[in-house]
Amino acid sequence: MEYEAVIGLETHVQLKTKSKMWCGCANQYGSEPNTNVCPVCLGMPGVLPVPNEEALRLTVLTGYLLNCEIPRFAKFDRKSYFYPDMPKNYQLTQYDKPSTANGFVEFEFNGAVSNNGLSRVRITRAHLEEDVGKSTHFERHSGLDFNRAGVPLMEIVTEPDITSAEMAYAYLNTLTEILHQGGISDCDMEKGMVRCDVNISVRPVGSKELGAKIEIKNMNSFSGVRRAAEYEIARQIEFVKRGEKLVQSTRRWDDVTGITELMRTKEDAHDYRYFPDPDLMPLAPTDQWLASVKSRVVELPLVRKQRLMGDYALPAGDAEVFKSNVELGNYFENIAKQTKNPKAVANWIINNLLAKLTEANVKEATNQAAMGVDSADVKLLTLANLKFQPEALLELVGLVEAKAISSSAAQQVFAEMFDTGKAPTTIVQEKGLAQVSDTGAIEKFCDEAIAANPNPVADYKAGKVAALNSLKGQVMKLSKGKANPALVGEILERKLKS
Ligand code: ADP
Ligand code: MG
Ligand code: ZN
Repeated sequence: MEYEAVIGLETHVQLKTKSKMWCGCANQYGSEPNTNVCPVCLGMPGVLPVPNEEALRLTVLTGYLLNCEIPRFAKFDRKSYFYPDMPKNYQLTQYDKPSTANGFVEFEFNGAVSNNGLSRVRITRAHLEEDVGKSTHFERHSGLDFNRAGVPLMEIVTEPDITSAEMAYAYLNTLTEILHQGGISDCDMEKGMVRCDVNISVRPVGSKELGAKIEIKNMNSFSGVRRAAEYEIARQIEFVKRGEKLVQSTRRWDDVTGITELMRTKEDAHDYRYFPDPDLMPLAPTDQWLASVKSRVVELPLVRKQRLMGDYALPAGDAEVFKSNVELGNYFENIAKQTKNPKAVANWIINNLLAKLTEANVKEATNQAAMGVDSADVKLLTLANLKFQPEALLELVGLVEAKAISSSAAQQVFAEMFDTGKAPTTIVQEKGLAQVSDTGAIEKFCDEAIAANPNPVADYKAGKVAALNSLKGQVMKLSKGKANPALVGEILERKLKS
């Protein structure tokens, strides 16, 4: 019998707010331990939480971006359990009345069921909760840092629609790209801003029933999720093929050994004793409030990609670059709107500008590091402070199209305008890069080349057409690269045939 995998993901994302969820403490990564704390986030008796409105907005905004319904009633519940990094002994979360529910995410992925050529993963809910502190274990003691306690955390739960490790990986990348571009979260994995629980089961192909769910807890890298899922799917299939029965359980992924290990089975599952928090009012968003949140909806990355392909006839690869780099995409669009040849503009931006930017910034970072400047303070070159105006790219494209300069001269012009900000036409004049289309001058170069290269001439006359290229190269050399290559070809052929 053949088996297939069924995967559902629960993804926790820290929201991009200035302050924490229930108090005014800074929501900031990297501070000295226990410096962003107050009686509220330390869970002192008698304190009262005040919800962070921006966190409420960002959760609903996520709902809009993930095609969710926004219920007109939501509330916060206490999820009771004890753990040293959680001073209140309960976590505030949304249990049965989340702020958003029933949405979906679509993305390009080969190999999954799709109607419009896209893969779809349904979103069960995206709800708001709070993060807990962090414990660090040393040899003989443990340390607790409550800076993270009470940071707004959103949990996004999918339906069990994912069918492979690779698809889980694609979903997670799509989700975080949307959240990042939507201004919901910086999604910085290195700072632990995204964590993920992976639920996996297997079942005979064709069966509608779900197998026993096995949850891998607290993954903090997407490549880790992919590896863990690959391992776990294979392990489960081998298990059931041996005729054994899987039981619902929780496992831990060990990134070093590359295996999952049992943590607990369902028998010792927690009873969280959820109940509505008596200190917090339920949420009943008004039309006006919802409209103001909706006005912050940005274009989804995939929609943007498809639009760029449609509006500017860009190939998928180019549109993909502008999809993942919004600033670069905006820069492109501003220029592309003004030309009949957007593909040429895209080429300059992707092939030349990006490379130059990286090169300049690596140089700058090295220089400033040598001068002892802290890496965080290094001023990098961005699209906003380039030396040349965006319109200069149009001018450059125009010069190439009009055959006023050759493509190799255009490279020189670009390098110069990047460094100095001078206009392309000025550079062409100053450096004498104008392409020679004066037939008289080219005829002279051709005569010289023919006279000096009897062998290729003889080869060409004997029917070796390729010999023309060698002569062409000689003419280009004589003209210092400025002769119009098409004209050179025509004139050479005419002279050799006569
Ligand atoms: P719990 O209440 O234990 O958290 P849920 O039913 O809320 O479980 O599901 C949690 C996550 O697990 C969801 O993403 C869901 O899609 C996924 N899931 C549920 N059952 C299965 C299953 N049998 N196989 C794979 N994933 C599952
Ligand atoms: Mg769970
Ligand atoms: Zn606080």
